[in-house]
Amino acid sequence: MNDVNYDILNTKKLYRKIFNNIHSSMPELFNKLKPSCKNCKKNNICKIDKSNPFQTFEKNCNLKLWKQNIINALENDLSKDILYKLKEIEKDKELFICNRCTICCKFATSEFNYETLKEKAQNGDKFSKQFVSLFIPYNNIDEAKKAYPDYVKMLEENLDDINNVYFYYCKKLNENGLCSDYNNRLQICRDFPNNPLVLLPKCCGYKEWKEKHHIEALLSHATLEIIEFYIKKLKN
Ligand code: SF4
Ligand code: SF4
Repeated sequence: MNDVNYDILNTKKLYRKIFNNIHSSMPELFNKLKPSCKNCKKNNICKIDKSNPFQTFEKNCNLKLWKQNIINALENDLSKDILYKLKEIEKDKELFICNRCTICCKFATSEFNYETLKEKAQNGDKFSKQFVSLFIPYNNIDEAKKAYPDYVKMLEENLDDINNVYFYYCKKLNENGLCSDYNNRLQICRDFPNNPLVLLPKCCGYKEWKEKHHIEALLSHATLEIIEFYIKKLKN
């Protein structure tokens, strides 16, 4: 197994574990946010399952507030804490520098083909706009493989259909394989890697930053995914 393969499998396994841990801790949090039952007139005949905040409560039932309490806690407290944490991680990246190995310029992947990316750019998608202004597709997978063999090999071994992945390189690379306009590079170049979950080559100057924040980023992203799921469920 090459390093890229190991990195991806490990991340997936860890993410699943972290996701399941957070998910199983949610009922305890929901319980803490439960308003007290007022013991209303219907108390003797009340059939409400008081452990389930996702049901429809009757108009005068005090537990009706439960859903809103949870939504407030998820949206206002938990999400804000996590977004703050992610900002801190991003800020810490400033302590590391790009060593200009240019691997990320020679090799970028997307789930979208070039035509779709151009369409997205025309429709105002900022990232696509910058991306298509710099990146052009490799003619075939063998060309892409030369730029980052381990990564392509990992995709070949793990994906059912590698034809759904598109490989690109930057047209601003000069004949020496270096950026010909480094001082004027666009924001997407300056932002890369935009989170510690991005797969990075060993030579990348941000590898240490990625390793330092990998778990925190997994934790944050898993929590945000769970929050999004519950908010949708509660608002439906
Ligand atoms: S503009 Fe320069 S830094 Fe940006 S992707 Fe292209 S070669 Fe890399
Ligand atoms: S892979 Fe990392 S070190 Fe290399 S050019 Fe990209 S950001 Fe810089």
